[in-house]
Amino acid sequence: MTVTGIKKMLKTRNLRATEIRVALLEIISNLGRAVSNQEIQNSLIKFDRITLYRTLNTFIERGILHKIILEDNKNFYALCNLECTTDKHQHQHIHFQCNQCKEVSCLESKEPIELGISSHLVDEIEIMASGTCQDCYN
Ligand SMILES: [Zn+2]
Ligand SMILES: [Zn+2]
Ligand SMILES: [Zn+2]
Repeated sequence: MTVTGIKKMLKTRNLRATEIRVALLEIISNLGRAVSNQEIQNSLIKFDRITLYRTLNTFIERGILHKIILEDNKNFYALCNLECTTDKHQHQHIHFQCNQCKEVSCLESKEPIELGISSHLVDEIEIMASGTCQDCYN
């Protein structure tokens, strides 16, 4: 996403395009994968942790980002698609972690994920997959 694109997107979500918001979204959108808390802090050292934490939470509330919590309690953040809103933040995709480079990405499946469960009403599905990513595989 370009800076202009990011600013437009913030506007549609009724958020002011502050320096930290634009910088944070630029990093995440340019990487095209999920970004860890640590990586965010390392790339945006000029902002303090609390401000970063608040900004991340604002983005999660507004349906711009979603959080991926891994087993070792490491948090990753990834961009939502444009359909996510404050009220509807539902994902039907798989989170994939590469066993070699440890990078996390969102994988959209071609078909909606069907669990074949009829006894309960499922709102959200969290699927974590691991293996070898395209970069490490080639
Ligand atoms: Zn979302
Ligand atoms: Zn990899
Ligand atoms: Zn995701």
